[in-house]
Parts: sequence; C-alpha cells; structure tokens
Amino acid sequence: MTPVSQWNGQFSCYDRVARTDDFSTVVQIGDVEIGGGNFAVMAGPCAVESERQVLETAEAVAEAGAVILRGGAYKPRSSPYSFQGLGIEGLKILRKAREETGLKIVTEVMAPEDVGVIAEYADIMQVGTRSMENYALLVALGGCGRPVLLKRGMTATLAEMLQSAQIIALNGNPDIILCERGIRTFETATRNTLDIAAVPVLKTVSHLPVIVDPSHAAGVRCLVPALARAAAVVDADGLLVEVHPCPERALSDGNQSLNLDEFRDMMDDLQPYLALRGEARCLRPQLLRVGGMH
Ligand code: PEP
Ligand code: MN
Repeated sequence: MTPVSQWNGQFSCYDRVARTDDFSTVVQIGDVEIGGGNFAVMAGPCAVESERQVLETAEAVAEAGAVILRGGAYKPRSSPYSFQGLGIEGLKILRKAREETGLKIVTEVMAPEDVGVIAEYADIMQVGTRSMENYALLVALGGCGRPVLLKRGMTATLAEMLQSAQIIALNGNPDIILCERGIRTFETATRNTLDIAAVPVLKTVSHLPVIVDPSHAAGVRCLVPALARAAAVVDADGLLVEVHPCPERALSDGNQSLNLDEFRDMMDDLQPYLALRGEARCLRPQLLRVGGMH
C-alpha cells in the first residue's frame, strides 16, 4: 500500500485510538479475547423476548462456536409502535443465559442514566448506530468499567467514528471495539451498504479491534453468510450476528435473523476462509504521526 498521507490529517488527531506504533488493543473478557488475530463471534437475537427464546438461542450459538451472546433489552426502535424491549427483565434473562452457557453478554445502552444498571449485567456495552453521537452517553461509558462496542453511525464517516471512540477513551475507558454495520447510501436492495473497506482502513489507522455486523448491513438473512465471509477475509476481528430460533415470529429484525441451523451452517462455512487469514503478503499498515489537524 502506498502511504496515504491524508490519513494523518484525518485520523491522527484522535491520539488515544489512532495507530502510531505496532501496538494493537486486545479486549480481554475472562478467557475471551477480541483482537490479536482472533475471530470472536457474537450472536443472538436482536431483542430479548423471553427466557426460553434466549436460552435456546444461547445454547445453539455456543455449540456452533460463538463466544458472546447478543440481545437487546433496551431497544432503539424507529417506530414508537414497535416492541421497545423488556428492560431490566431482559437483563436478568441475559444473566441467566451467561450462567447456563458461559457465554459473555453484549447488550445495548441508549441513555447515560442506564449505564450503571446495564454494566451490572453486561460484559460489553453496545452503543448503537443511532447513539454514536450521543456524547453524554459516550462520556458516561468512559467510567463504566466495561468494554464498549461502538457501532458506526449510519451516516458517520470513519473519522467521526474514531472521534466518538476518542471521547470514550479520553474519559477513562481504553477497551473499545469498533463495529462496521453498514451505512446509508442510495442503494435500497440492502438495508444498509456494508462498507467493507472500513475494516482495513480502521485497522490501519487505529489500534482498536474491528468487527462486522452483517445482519444490519444486509437486512435480509440470505445475504448474511456472504457478508460474514467478506468480513473474515478482510481480517475483521469478529462478527455480531442476529440469530433467532424462529425468525418469522421475531419481535424485531426477523427478516435479517438467521435461524439456529442457518447460523451453524454459516459458522461451518466460514472455517476455510478463517484458515486463510494471515497468509496474505500484505504491506504493513502505515503508521500515523501523532498530532495533526483537529
Ligand atoms: C442492534 O444491534 O440490534 C441494533 C439496533 O443495531 P444498529 O444500532 O446497528 O441498528
Ligand atoms: Mn437488530
């Protein structure tokens, strides 16, 4: 790769998260590592709907190789008439699933006042696309004592995403995982456009781990395995995938959720692609100079 000098000005000012040497952040949660060459799969329903739904999903995704269970208890719904999530009851269900399967838990936080209670139940605090620029929330997450999964705003540039990460880091929390989940473009065949180039760009200009959410990018389940393969071959550090025992009856995002068999097949099909990782004779990432424009 020829040095891309404009990236210095674009990204190097976010000095807590910009890559300026060979150091890469590895987010460690018990025995689970995100970053450092691993491919950590986070899977589960869009929303926590019932204990049965979550436990059945958790057992199946753990068996298939996921290490983290996802599930929203506080849901950011575009429509006020959509299911809004079970709140604290949902968090208790996620905790039970952790006790029964050993999976770590990632769940979304939308408001600064919910950070304390969600941090009691979650292993990773998810910031959704609609909250990437909720600066009060980002500041509160700086002191939450848990890693943060920061999703890219649906109309945010990568520099804006790193700016949000910088706020979390500046407020005391260096454990941040970046997530590309698709952006708004003129294309309507998919729910969002997966910006696959975001992965190598972010991994070049930042030391933070980068994962891909193929579900919210695709919007339809048949595309999810192909986008997951793409993520694997561009050296993403993992996936965030929606899985439901019966997607047809899901209270949110059923269209893009895999059923349990489809998830297992996707995981099996990823293996040869994961085996290829690290074999490419890539040029080394260019190091940024600290400082530059704000
Ligand atoms: C989700 O993960 O269910 C979600 C709401 O994602 P996003 O914030 O990317 O839309
Ligand atoms: Mn969802």
